[in-house]
Amino acid sequence: MKTGIHHLYIPGPTNVPEAVRRAMNVTMQDHRAPDFGEFTLGLFADLKKLFKTTTGTVMMFPGSGTAAWEAAITNTLSPGDKVLMSRHGQFSTLWAEMAQRLGLEVELVDVAWGAGAPVNEFARRLGADRKGEIKAVFVTHNETATGVTSDVKAVRRVMEECFHDALLFVDGVSSIGSIDFRMDEWGVDLAITGSQKGLMCPAGMGILAASEKALLAAKTAKGRRAYFEFNDMLSLNAQGYFPYTPPVPLLHGLRASLDRLLDEGLETVFARHTRLATGVRRAVAAWGMDLCAEHSSLYSDTVTAIRVHPDVDAREVIRIGYDRYNTAFGSGLARLAGKVFRIGHLGDMNEGMCLTALAVAEMSLAEAGAKIEFGSGIAAAQSHYAATRVRHAELRIAAE
Ligand SMILES: *Cc1c(COP(=O)(O)O)cnc(C)c1O
Repeated sequence: MKTGIHHLYIPGPTNVPEAVRRAMNVTMQDHRAPDFGEFTLGLFADLKKLFKTTTGTVMMFPGSGTAAWEAAITNTLSPGDKVLMSRHGQFSTLWAEMAQRLGLEVELVDVAWGAGAPVNEFARRLGADRKGEIKAVFVTHNETATGVTSDVKAVRRVMEECFHDALLFVDGVSSIGSIDFRMDEWGVDLAITGSQKGLMCPAGMGILAASEKALLAAKTAKGRRAYFEFNDMLSLNAQGYFPYTPPVPLLHGLRASLDRLLDEGLETVFARHTRLATGVRRAVAAWGMDLCAEHSSLYSDTVTAIRVHPDVDAREVIRIGYDRYNTAFGSGLARLAGKVFRIGHLGDMNEGMCLTALAVAEMSLAEAGAKIEFGSGIAAAQSHYAATRVRHAELRIAAE
């Protein structure tokens, strides 16, 4: 029997705050009742704040983030359309595979797992696309498999420099609500997230925001869609209703999580993630270990992927954490299996939770055969948290 609380440090699903969990404990409700629309219209309005869009339209599809990928593609593109994508981790790889399955002609740029979206190579290919054959550029904002955050703004900039009018798709499943994301300012046409990461809810909803340009593209796009048809969703969403049964308890959870994020202030939420993540990275450096991310400019503030020494099997580290210490770390996905373990530090997180993750990681690493000086990582993180505590508190006041 395992005693005590289960420590969850995977990058989604994330820890659900008590207030969110309680908010979901509702009796079942008529989703076509006269007052139901009023409730959901508030959610759509606040989700727009989360995406930082005033001109975009938010939709929620029962499903996970992957469902929102599919909804975005099938509604705005046609089979045979050429799209530009890069693969630099398991999530960008799966998205490319979906695009292929849906009949798109995917122009792939393969870069190292640990690199970011290849902005210069994108610029070259967009510049060479004189006939405008590329209909969309896809960017995985935060590659959860490698702990790499890519520069979406820079991708939009090179699109502008080439006067390219492709749509810009962004997977923000593990960034939106945790890392700075600006749909309107960065000219994102389709932004995608899910309920179970930065939004601190259980899985169950794919959430997307579409720009006016994306909605215009949807009028002529020939992608086959049925369940995910934007028009069905939009015509009912206008009054706060859905074309089919929405996950009502989850919507109540979302209400509570949006309240928390907006009360804390998005900029404070982002700063908190940066501060907690920096502490984790200081710990990894103190252990003498490397991150999967190739460069500090790419470091993700929501998940840290840690490379273990070749003598150590990262799967063992994860197994020991789980079996002996009731703690879940993220695994190395696909080609990173055994080489990497991940600490998810997004959502409802604080210093003590990160320090627990580091303490259990030290023990699990040592028991899996890594050379670790106990307390070295914890001390490095503590020093960072102590040194930045005042600044963070000031920021919180400034946000109020
Ligand atoms: C989690 C994740 C997904 C997949 O989302 P699901 O909700 O599991 O379908 C896609 N992209 C990224 C970057 C993710 O982190």
